Amino acid sequence: NEAVRINRYLAMCGIASRRAADQMVLEGRVTINGVLASEPGVKVVPGKDEVIVDGSKFAQPEGRKIYILFNKPRNVITTSSDERNREMVLDFIDVNERVYPVGRLDRKTTGVLLLTNDGMLANKLMHPSSNVKKEYIAVLDAPFPQASLPLLTGGMRLSDTGEKVSPCQAKIMGDGSQVWISIHEGKNHQVRRMFKTLGFEVTRLDRPTYAGLTVGDLRRGQWRHLTRTEVQQLR
Ligand code: URA
Repeated sequence: NEAVRINRYLAMCGIASRRAADQMVLEGRVTINGVLASEPGVKVVPGKDEVIVDGSKFAQPEGRKIYILFNKPRNVITTSSDERNREMVLDFIDVNERVYPVGRLDRKTTGVLLLTNDGMLANKLMHPSSNVKKEYIAVLDAPFPQASLPLLTGGMRLSDTGEKVSPCQAKIMGDGSQVWISIHEGKNHQVRRMFKTLGFEVTRLDRPTYAGLTVGDLRRGQWRHLTRTEVQQLR
């Protein structure tokens, strides 16, 4: 095995993003062969060096990789710990491997969420430069005027923080209060905030497609393994 930087190794193991892994090293939480990792640039040999984070060993990157497509119901949270005992995505996924959601969906948002223990792929998909396409159907509190479409898709500035979002695609559907929108970023609550900026409330938000993977026949709360071909497509 070739030596890899400790941050890359931790990402491969699904422990943290590379950036978060650097932080863990700086915080003195990582040991290599019993010695505190001194700086984020240090390298380890997978399968040979013993890496411990916060005092415990974890699954090695050589373990079986699994990839899950989940149809998230409403009122289920994506985070993996909750003091308020709300229902969590991981409560639905009965596999032995420890898997992690690829990005997040708001509690009220339904639809496609990927989960995996492949930290490398997860980081790649979550990185802003990966341009993963996310399609949403937003139900609004009022019909959306055709004339406002260019404002929605042209790359707007969000009214709350002033952040700029990239141009995207959108289409008005049905009676006008449903909008299909395809974005390739993942800012917090992005779709809701984009509509809010234009004076609309999103009353329901569904994500039928993520990175070309569609929810298909899965009912809310159901999941399936990705096929090998689907995993290849994500790489
Ligand atoms: N945009 C949102 O506002 N919420 C989500 O859950 C996903 C995208």
